[in-house]
Amino acid sequence: MWIIFGWEKEQKPLGVVATTYCYDCRRSSEWLVSKESEWVTLSAIRVFRFILKHHLHCTGCSAVFPLTQAEFKQIDRHMRQHESIDGTDLHGSLAKTIEAEQLAGKTPLQLKFIRESMAAQEQYKAAIRSQNDQSP
Ligand SMILES: [Zn+2]
Repeated sequence: MWIIFGWEKEQKPLGVVATTYCYDCRRSSEWLVSKESEWVTLSAIRVFRFILKHHLHCTGCSAVFPLTQAEFKQIDRHMRQHESIDGTDLHGSLAKTIEAEQLAGKTPLQLKFIRESMAAQEQYKAAIRSQNDQSP
């Protein structure tokens, strides 16, 4: 009988864990964690899994960041008792990584445009807030 060696790659979304600004989407976006594994199969039966990686994906675009095993464990532990990791130290450090990586490829002109459009968005939000405060 034939034994067919195969190779299977699987990526499973685990769920949304954080909300943070995405510089590719240019808005506050939800980010989800996925689990990626690769399997060696024998006649279509999975016999051996040897890669397990976690990624953080923007739900609004194709932005994706690898998570270290330590980062994933921290997220996993936190998510058992909370709705998200928003406001945690880890959230802060992931947001910084995302910002640094996404802005790294931009030209000074693009950076200026991004900063200006973010400032304009903030001003717009503040204007709406003060309008709401004034209305009875
Ligand atoms: Zn995005």
